[in-house]
Amino acid sequence: MSLDLNSVRDYLKHYDGPDVNLMEVCGSHTGAIAKNGIPSLLSDKIHLISGPGCPVCVCVSSYIDRLIELSLTENTCVVTFGDLIRVPGSQESLSIARGRGARVRMVYSPMETLDLAEKDPATTFVFAAVGFETTAPVYALLVEETKERHLSNVKLLTAIKTMPAVIDSLCSSHAPVDGFLAPGHVCAVTGYTAYEGLAKRYDLPFVVCGFTGPELLIGLTLLVKYRGQGIVKNAYPRVVTREGNQEAQALMQEVFEPAPAAWRGLGIIENSGLVLKGSYASCDAGSRDLSEDNKKNRACICDQVLTGRKKPVDCPLFGKVCSPMHPQGACMVSQEGSCFTWLTSGRQR
Ligand code: SF4
Repeated sequence: MSLDLNSVRDYLKHYDGPDVNLMEVCGSHTGAIAKNGIPSLLSDKIHLISGPGCPVCVCVSSYIDRLIELSLTENTCVVTFGDLIRVPGSQESLSIARGRGARVRMVYSPMETLDLAEKDPATTFVFAAVGFETTAPVYALLVEETKERHLSNVKLLTAIKTMPAVIDSLCSSHAPVDGFLAPGHVCAVTGYTAYEGLAKRYDLPFVVCGFTGPELLIGLTLLVKYRGQGIVKNAYPRVVTREGNQEAQALMQEVFEPAPAAWRGLGIIENSGLVLKGSYASCDAGSRDLSEDNKKNRACICDQVLTGRKKPVDCPLFGKVCSPMHPQGACMVSQEGSCFTWLTSGRQR
């Protein structure tokens, strides 16, 4: 079939084959799908699932608890992106802890931590390094620059995750997924050879996809079309190459090494995270101490939402007790979270 915009819109709206579940594993895709009103353009037989690719959504509560503990420690300040401060830990969020004296600074770039540290040498600044392969090279730069400037008061508490291992874990646990929109930003760094192995192993299609409305529609069309085939298609060639950005990969490999990581709702997955290598241990604020999730509200079903087994509307708290103003789980905090986008885009209707 032709992939011009009218043809793909027509194809997706009138698709009448077997039901198909398609997962976007990137939080930016989740946001872009909501912003572009993509669900309203699809046939009732095409179901979209938001996977575990929103960095704050997959953050375990024990990680938030550790950040809070550090932020309440004498001469210590936690530095973070804005989204993270509202994520619930087991008892409270960083934002609430701030009300009782926790030192928390929000920044737009991790590199701002360097200036903070130089201006206030008596304080240790701990950067909350969450995210995927997309942000890992920036964290690697922060570590390199910390060494370069001989700063001993910059540390990272890392919760960096990697995509292929979690997708492997989802597929091997028989998550109800018939195809994946592969994460475009991550693939820009890593390339997509790792997804070729997964596609073959599980006979599932992967489409590397961009973030505009037309790119998403083409990506979804390819996934429906190649349902049941172990194939990878690159529908984002203006940004992504098969081998990715090798300079960024080399930087990551210099500073980080693979390690098990704890995922909200998914437990600990082998080789699904990155931690600082031993030669950079002086910059580590204790990232290797893993513990499982211990969520605040036991009725929250974030874990099942993230694996496609339930929809946000299946949660008894959705839109009632849990809202963007009063999030009970991480999926309601970030604009990339599935519960947030379902509620704010009116998708539940
Ligand atoms: Fe958790 Fe709130 Fe989503 Fe329910 S609606 S799954 S409580 S984040």
